[in-house]
Amino acid sequence: MIGAGHAGLAMSRCLAERSIDHVVLERGEVANTWRKERWNSLRLLTPNWQSRLPGFGYSGDDPDGYRTVPEVIRFIEGYAKTISAPVETNTQVTSVRNNDAGYHVQTNRGDWQCRAVVLASGACNLPDIPTVADAVPLSIDRLPAQFYRNPAQLADGGVLVVGASASGTQIAHELQRSGRQVYLAVGEHIRAPRLYRGKDIQWWMDAAGVHHERYDAIDDIARARRVPSLQLAGTVDRSTLDLNALTDIGVKLVGRLAGIANGKAQFAGSLRNMCALSDLKMNRLLDTFDAWARERGVDGTVAPPHRLPPTRVEDAPPLGMDLADGTIETLIWATGYRPDYSWLGVPVLDRKGMVRHDGGVADIPGLYLMGLHFMRRRKSSLIDGAGDDARELSDHLAAYLDGRTATVAHAPVRERQRHQDVLA
Ligand SMILES: Cc1cc2nc3c(=O)[nH]c(=O)nc-3n(C[C@H](O)[C@H](O)[C@H](O)COP(=O)(O)OP(=O)(O)OC[C@H]3O[C@@H](n4cnc5c(N)ncnc54)[C@H](O)[C@@H]3O)c2cc1C
Repeated sequence: MIGAGHAGLAMSRCLAERSIDHVVLERGEVANTWRKERWNSLRLLTPNWQSRLPGFGYSGDDPDGYRTVPEVIRFIEGYAKTISAPVETNTQVTSVRNNDAGYHVQTNRGDWQCRAVVLASGACNLPDIPTVADAVPLSIDRLPAQFYRNPAQLADGGVLVVGASASGTQIAHELQRSGRQVYLAVGEHIRAPRLYRGKDIQWWMDAAGVHHERYDAIDDIARARRVPSLQLAGTVDRSTLDLNALTDIGVKLVGRLAGIANGKAQFAGSLRNMCALSDLKMNRLLDTFDAWARERGVDGTVAPPHRLPPTRVEDAPPLGMDLADGTIETLIWATGYRPDYSWLGVPVLDRKGMVRHDGGVADIPGLYLMGLHFMRRRKSSLIDGAGDDARELSDHLAAYLDGRTATVAHAPVRERQRHQDVLA
């Protein structure tokens, strides 16, 4: 196993249950990315009750709260101890190659030979920065969300945050409240209320089955895997963090950053359409919840349906901005994340450098994945998604080691009627 985040640990627990001898190689400490790659004020956007891992869950008295980063670290550390995971910390995997006996794994602390490898090394190792970044004037400080920690880290002055999903909106909110003028470049995004009909949106996603949707039941899974994260934040007051909440505190919205020429940023003219589309998708999602509540007879147990007001966009948002005139001191890339497989010497990468796989079973025998977005289910990259995936993939892995015919577990027939992703 490569990686001791929650996904690697969940898989470790499932392998131990099947008496499969294994080791978890971790370049840092358990929960390394939560220690090194998250901003200080971040809280989970999933409620406490939803951090369910095989054999472990929330036991405190605030199931509806949202964990801080130190609390997430303690939670994952606690899991590793509870399941006695065989973790080798400070062990960086520098190369994985396939050979006749399986896989040869090189690390900074010696080599391993094994029959199977699970890549649980994370889906968010590198910032996914658009090529236009090369044209940003040198006078501007640039920072991916992954390296953002707090407002004090930034120069005084204006900030352009590029990307309006969970990371971008949360960082824009914090920086505007620090006294800086924030401009937010808004591309495709998914708006969502924090609470709907008195319940957390994540409760609805879970109860109505949206989180459990299978990769093989979705029409265009490649597209579904590119859908950005919901615009959400975990806050003590459980408030909604959408574009209206940001413009209320003074954030200025601009369109998607389409290009930079001679130090001038060009923003797409589609801001209005983007926001209208996002409102439409949100309402479609809420319709799904309402239909589910009606069918399941829970209508009477929750508040009546309601809708948020449409996203407000000014009549003529600016289409350009001089990045060299001092308005902007810092640009933050909140344009997403991607995995890093630069050390993977196995012929299984596609032209974008991603591992070719079917629901986490790589296109080469004995290699598995964990934790990727919509890998087996919509919730695959969430803490709550690791359990089901680890159980199914460890079954496959056990069969593979035994020399039995291993097949990828597919959605039950009744769920296999392919449909369009409600968020795509
Ligand atoms: C900003 C942000 C907020 C998020 N908020 C939530 C949330 O609210 N709720 C939720 O459920 N999910 C959330 N997620 C998604 C997800 O839960 C996290 O990304 C989580 O860290 C993924 O867990 P993982 O175990 O798959 O990967 P990681 O936690 O990234 O763990 C991978 C491990 O592999 C190690 N590793 C990588 N390469 C190597 C190597 N070559 N050799 C050895 N070790 C290696 C890393 O050090 C790391 O410890 C969030 C993600 C981000 C980026």
